[in-house]
Amino acid sequence: MKIAFIGLGNMGLPMAQNLSRAGFAVSGFDLSAAQMDALAAVGGERAVSAAAAVTGADAVVTMLPASRHVEATYLGAGGVLDCAAPGTLFIDCSTIAPEAARKVAVAAAARGFAMLDAPVSGGTGGAQAGTLTFMVGGAAGALDRARPLLEKMGRNIFHAGDSGAGQTVKVCNNMLLGILMSGTAEALRLGMANGMDPKVLSEIMAKSSGRNWVLEVYNPCPGVMDSAPSSRGYAGGFGVDLMLKDLGLAVENSLSVGASVPMGALARNLYDLHSKAGNGGLDFGSIFNLLGAHANA
Ligand code: NAD
Repeated sequence: MKIAFIGLGNMGLPMAQNLSRAGFAVSGFDLSAAQMDALAAVGGERAVSAAAAVTGADAVVTMLPASRHVEATYLGAGGVLDCAAPGTLFIDCSTIAPEAARKVAVAAAARGFAMLDAPVSGGTGGAQAGTLTFMVGGAAGALDRARPLLEKMGRNIFHAGDSGAGQTVKVCNNMLLGILMSGTAEALRLGMANGMDPKVLSEIMAKSSGRNWVLEVYNPCPGVMDSAPSSRGYAGGFGVDLMLKDLGLAVENSLSVGASVPMGALARNLYDLHSKAGNGGLDFGSIFNLLGAHANA
């Protein structure tokens, strides 16, 4: 089975490498030659263009930065829809607007192609280890065809519903994560301003009704949890700018479907300020620093 993989960045490269190591013939394309070299190093093939990668492929996987890149790659003149052979399966793993995912899937269906939106959770570590979680939107039959590929890149594969449903779940989950991180950092700062030891405070809240994933495995206060990015200068982990992107998708989506997301909008504004202060590349737990900027203690 031949797979075209377009977008070999921090996530796409290790995902494509896992497919190649699993024995699939992977033809990769990225704007960066170095990324294609890294795929070739594990047996993949370098394509000269997205069109060349797609020609003769049984499935196309895309892992691109944002909606506009996905729309251009599939819908643009000479793009994936123009070059793919009949019957090719499309799997977009990028995190994009649910509306954009539906638009591309509808255009693909009009040309007879099945398409899945399959955004992921698990970060670069999950991509390398092949333990990603896939949130999939699209037809059940298309997901059945995609499973042999997805299983080589991830551990949990959820069928969320029709086209766009995978992106909807991703947007909801990451909005909640942004809110939980900001709220947890705020609670820790309040306790610390009262003279509390953040470790003691965290241990008690993690066993009380305020417990959440951030308190359990990703504490934003330096020194509380050795394994969290906060304890290594907020290096690695999940970047502020990626969280800001996902919160932006949530707010935009809320406007288009008429939902109210006051907490998500507040979290987006906090991350926006934090990014503009020069922290876009730090782990998103560094919002803890923004919230401590005016503390008296
Ligand atoms: P990245 O910027 O590292 O990689 C994107 C790659 O796409 C780059 O290598 C770029 O050269 C390439 N690219 C851009 N336009 C292209 C085009 N027209 N044709 C071919 N290649 C093109 O980003 P990433 O961290 O790999 O993220 C990819 C997607 O996954 C994003 O939508 C992101 O939101 C999502 N995501 C990222 C993470 C994470 O932790 N990094 C986690 C979950 C989801």
